[in-house]
Amino acid sequence: MQNVKYISRVVNIGDVPMGGDFPIRIQSMTTTNTLDTQATVAQAIRMIEAGCEYVRITAQGVKEAKHLAVIKKELKKSGYTTPLIADIHYNPKAAEVAARIVEKVRINPGNYTDRKKGKPSYSDSEYAQEIEIIREKIRPLINICKQYGTALRIGSNHGSLSERILLKYGDTPAGMMESALEFVQICRDFDFHNIVLSMKASNVKVMVQANRLLVKRMTEEGMNYPIHLGVTEAGDAEDGRIKSAAGIGPLLADGIGDTIRVSLTEDPELEIPVAKEIVSGFNERDKRCEITRIENEISDPFIYNRRQTLPVDKVGNGQVPVVLLSWDISKANPYSFDKGFIPDYLFNSKTGRLQKLSVSNDELVIESSRIKLAFIESEEELEKTSTKFSGETVLILETNPNKSLHELRRIINLLVKKGINQPVIFHRDYSDLSEEKLLVQASSDFSFLLIDGLIDGIWISHNRMDMKILSRMAFGILQATGSRITKTEYIACPSCGRTLFNIQETLQKIKHRTSHLKGLKIGVMGCCVNGPGEMADAHYGYVGAGKGKITLYKGRQIIQAGIAESEAVEALVTLIKMHGDWK
Ligand code: SF4
Repeated sequence: MQNVKYISRVVNIGDVPMGGDFPIRIQSMTTTNTLDTQATVAQAIRMIEAGCEYVRITAQGVKEAKHLAVIKKELKKSGYTTPLIADIHYNPKAAEVAARIVEKVRINPGNYTDRKKGKPSYSDSEYAQEIEIIREKIRPLINICKQYGTALRIGSNHGSLSERILLKYGDTPAGMMESALEFVQICRDFDFHNIVLSMKASNVKVMVQANRLLVKRMTEEGMNYPIHLGVTEAGDAEDGRIKSAAGIGPLLADGIGDTIRVSLTEDPELEIPVAKEIVSGFNERDKRCEITRIENEISDPFIYNRRQTLPVDKVGNGQVPVVLLSWDISKANPYSFDKGFIPDYLFNSKTGRLQKLSVSNDELVIESSRIKLAFIESEEELEKTSTKFSGETVLILETNPNKSLHELRRIINLLVKKGINQPVIFHRDYSDLSEEKLLVQASSDFSFLLIDGLIDGIWISHNRMDMKILSRMAFGILQATGSRITKTEYIACPSCGRTLFNIQETLQKIKHRTSHLKGLKIGVMGCCVNGPGEMADAHYGYVGAGKGKITLYKGRQIIQAGIAESEAVEALVTLIKMHGDWK
């Protein structure tokens, strides 16, 4: 991976500037009905008190956009001047109203003006004509933004690209980037530069690749707009936190990102401590400047490829990354692991050897492993010891949490250069951290190497934490990075003013019924405006379709529309059963 620090320009958003040397800003979005002033203001205050630096509020129509003035006034009366952002989809008029009121407007280039026309293809002239239409439709908004000093986020989302872009680039990181850049070019033509860009996806690899592509292109073309990072529809609880950190952390470690939003299907104020933990350590620009270019690139940063390694027992050679844990025989009982989250190996610190774990006839089997471990902390160490590696050697790369992860990339780069094909397991000890901090930090750190296919296993250590918790966490990180699937995946939106049912409760009900369906992806989305597209590659979808009404999807196809909410969870179960996916 090429490590080129990306220094963005400063964009003014009210009195909280973003980009340049300013700290990475934290933001979130309200989930209340925008027209419910009391609820929206109270929630915004809870978010601000928790540390939210920009508050985004949905404005689905002109009425809601106008109402932002009331919310802003009420917040000011209570002493809060935190910049507000209007979230707009499919409604240029609402954007134009909001841009006169709030400090920033977010538009989605996939749906600002474009509606699906069902065209099979676009000729070059039709394509150019569409861009001209967009130019005319966005021109009033840009003029208002210039006049009022309002910033604009051009936010591409995987799954909600325009038909024109989909036909030309597909639903890909390149399509997401091109979609945003078409709008950027129009803004530049009008000499408007108060722009922030985002490339979001619920798939961590897609999100990382799209942002890397964007930075590459902007750098090549002499642009430097700030970047907003986020993993959409990350879900809730531990999995939602892991997925968010796994997507945002590696980009921040590479010097990409000026503001972040952690999207959890929970109350928005609960997103803020997670966001703070993710940015901690990256906010000192000096630390970010440690990033140095690796001369020999070891992997293509825009395509996932696993590093080719030798098979050593269950490790390497394209097998799923293994989970290894430390085992203190005097303290921990390995027979207590949850079914489905049993680590592959335990490291016995007394003998310095690995024990291999497997399940036979529902019984846990522990046996000695023939694997030989070589612990490497630096390139120098690798140079000294590499001649001693045998066909049974697995390398354990270690650094402490205060050291740069780029050192590990350099070591793997050296392995590739020297033609050493030993599998690599990354080990880090987090004994100084609380469970909450460990979850976020480990997700960010391990994802840094997993998303580029550079490692064959992960080993998280913490001397006071239960092996069971560490194992569950490790499998969660592998799942979030798409490296090893061991459970059901929920692609659940955080909800917003468009949501007309209690999504948090519903997600729990759906989880309760379906959490045994390993490998199945279930989308739980608040509205049908963005939901169907943005649940992207979900196998089944549960999408809000109006007050008390739900629509069920199989893939991208509507199967049942307008089901009463009270019956919808069971209808989803029936649908999964009907298609033979219930195990
Ligand atoms: S999918 Fe969820 S967060 Fe997105 S607009 Fe709809 S309700 Fe709001």
